[in-house]
Amino acid sequence: MSGIFGVASKKDCIETLLYGTDYHSHLGTEYGGMAVLGENFTRQIHNISQSQFKSKFYDDAKHMKGNKGIGVISAFEEQPIYLKSRFGPFCIVTNGLIENTEELTESLLKKGVSFCEVSRGTVNETELIAKLINQGDNLIDGIEKMFDAIEGSCSLLLLHKDGIYAARDRFGYTPLAIGRRADAWAVTAETSAFPNNDFEITKHLSPGEIILINESGIISKRPGGGVNQICAFLWIYTGFPASNYEGINVEVVREKCGRFLAKQDKDIGVDVVSGVPDSGVAHAIGYAMESGKPYRRPLVKYTPGYGRSYTPPSQETRDLIAKMKLVPIRDIIKGNRIVVCEDSIVRGTQLKNFTIKKMWDGEAKEVHVRPACPPLMFPCRFNLSTRSIDELAARRAIRSIEGKDIEDVSEYTDYNSEKYKMMVEWIRKDLEVTTLRYQSVGDMVEAIGLPKESLCLYCWTGECPGQKLCSKKNQDREEIPMAA
Ligand code: SF4
Repeated sequence: MSGIFGVASKKDCIETLLYGTDYHSHLGTEYGGMAVLGENFTRQIHNISQSQFKSKFYDDAKHMKGNKGIGVISAFEEQPIYLKSRFGPFCIVTNGLIENTEELTESLLKKGVSFCEVSRGTVNETELIAKLINQGDNLIDGIEKMFDAIEGSCSLLLLHKDGIYAARDRFGYTPLAIGRRADAWAVTAETSAFPNNDFEITKHLSPGEIILINESGIISKRPGGGVNQICAFLWIYTGFPASNYEGINVEVVREKCGRFLAKQDKDIGVDVVSGVPDSGVAHAIGYAMESGKPYRRPLVKYTPGYGRSYTPPSQETRDLIAKMKLVPIRDIIKGNRIVVCEDSIVRGTQLKNFTIKKMWDGEAKEVHVRPACPPLMFPCRFNLSTRSIDELAARRAIRSIEGKDIEDVSEYTDYNSEKYKMMVEWIRKDLEVTTLRYQSVGDMVEAIGLPKESLCLYCWTGECPGQKLCSKKNQDREEIPMAA
């Protein structure tokens, strides 16, 4: 997943662009980029895998001048892409994931289109998007034809002399919202970028909607609407607590998730409710509010040194950082029955080795783990928010129960089935915890508050009703580390 931000202002926009983009730093660990249009385009891209976005761009910002600009925190490829197109030069940033990259690349190559950027051995997807748009009769037609051509998802910001074209993915997997202040208009993936930059939210773009933003306002280019499949995982884990998507706040949803988790726990005694920092904390607060048990912090994150998980070079180093950043408080752990709320369980290895182990080492009496979403079964196909299929804890459990990998896991996604219970018990034993209870799909959907049909739930159910194709290709993706 990547984070994108754009601003069109009556004065120089660079400071707003720098901070607005920086508020997306939790969404990517690989590259940061900004492009500004003044008299000319100025563009900068840096690898941010070992340092903060702001520190990398602080000096650049002094030399970038213009009243409109776009920025990106990119999970895996270099952006923005600059293209001297037949509609005039433009810069573009994207957020999404394309499944038919090879097929689209081949078809453009046959038309004589060349590519110059590569990303992990294949074409840079943002360059591919730019060149697909360039096939249209005009920019809007190009964006719509690109939407027609891709399988997967794509939201984008395109910086042009006309202003900033903002287009939300046709199925709405990733969000975009518009904000206004006296001297400027902005567009953002995370609305948490708005309050401290003095923007008020004026609109959440509909799926497929295209608008043009300039310093005077917004101009509708295509209304959008139809199928919405916004990513449910935004509310559970990937989104920032202060953000709203479709008008629904992340922190509030997480509190509701925690309340649902507590409601199914009438049969266990609890002394302490805790959350794995940072994304488990709001779920734990909700659990504490519902259960009436105290929210406490048996583990605290050493924020000064480990505020963000950069992309360390090896698993060994990643594990070392995971171990070092959470510091246990034995005075809170010892002798207590502790509920640990977590956003989700992916592999479960860090949870087991660096959270649960610290509870047992601190002499907890009981440790009860409560993930705020159902078991992850399928890696994300639309924005790379979840990992490869092999490493998912649920898949390891199924492999062990069945003695082999199986295609049809429908029995394991049924919350009431015996197979589901066997899978959860296998994971509980593997984690070495007293009890393990996952959130159900129904409770998670109710906590979010949108109709089930308006959410992408693919990584739990394997269903993606909004897509033309629901092929299983690209399920086994390379791991893309996320910021924590
Ligand atoms: S597959 Fe999962 S992470 Fe990906 S968009 Fe759907 S709900 Fe979100």
